[in-house]
Amino acid sequence: MLLLLFFTAACGKNEEEGMQDGNENPETNEVEEEEQQETENQESGKEQQEEGNEETPSESTEEEAKPEEQEPEDKNVKPMYEVSDVWSIKPIDEKANEKVVLLTIDDAPEEYAVDMAKTLKELNAPAIFFVNGHFIDTEEEQARLKEIADMGFAIGNHTYNHTKLDEVSEEEQRKEVVELNDLIEKVIGERPKFFRAPHGVNTDYVKTLVKEEGMTLMNWSYGYDFKADYMTEDSIRDIMINTELLSDGANLLMHDREWTAAALADIVTGLRDKGYEMVDPNLIQTP
Ligand SMILES: [Zn+2]
Repeated sequence: MLLLLFFTAACGKNEEEGMQDGNENPETNEVEEEEQQETENQESGKEQQEEGNEETPSESTEEEAKPEEQEPEDKNVKPMYEVSDVWSIKPIDEKANEKVVLLTIDDAPEEYAVDMAKTLKELNAPAIFFVNGHFIDTEEEQARLKEIADMGFAIGNHTYNHTKLDEVSEEEQRKEVVELNDLIEKVIGERPKFFRAPHGVNTDYVKTLVKEEGMTLMNWSYGYDFKADYMTEDSIRDIMINTELLSDGANLLMHDREWTAAALADIVTGLRDKGYEMVDPNLIQTP
């Protein structure tokens, strides 16, 4: 029982630290472009925090039951991280390395995603590829998605048509999410475990739907490759590694873009040189 209390206390502490980290970060970089997003982030942040608090005790009990377990089975790995209220990746297990970053590639697989996956695979760097349905309409495009999944990367849902969700009906939002999950399952044999809304715009409806679909929702900590100043290999490499927003658990937004693909290997190496490990998405808690 004492151990349980200790663990719960430790979780609470991490949560506070995570929030402080997050407060130093401007919410995201697309906020300027998407005026509703900040409100969205704050709202969903509160919700996630409440949910997190509800869930923590039972998880702690589970952790406590098998403290010595060292070799988790491949498929149902015990989660060691959760997505925080500011979208960073936060340890929920004492053994988890705090100094991690999550790599995510959005708007895939258009032109460069397969090459980016090969680059990451060579470097043994895990990542989530957030895909759009309109990029996997044809058999040829579906083969690209399968290739990325077969390399072991997590596939996330980024909506069917890259639709701004607050501009369409609930029925449309459902189609954007569920039809893409159905299609992804048809192609790779499993449904996505992660969801990221286009432009980071999450409606209350989609937050509920995403949970129903068994996915974890996330925006990101920082990303630059969609901004005019960072559309070259040199500039995106430099900012992704040297931004002051780089911190423990940072959730890194990148896209299927030529300059990002060109800089990707150096970005991974540069982050590792700074002591960061690329977190395995399989270790992140999902509903
Ligand atoms: Zn996008």
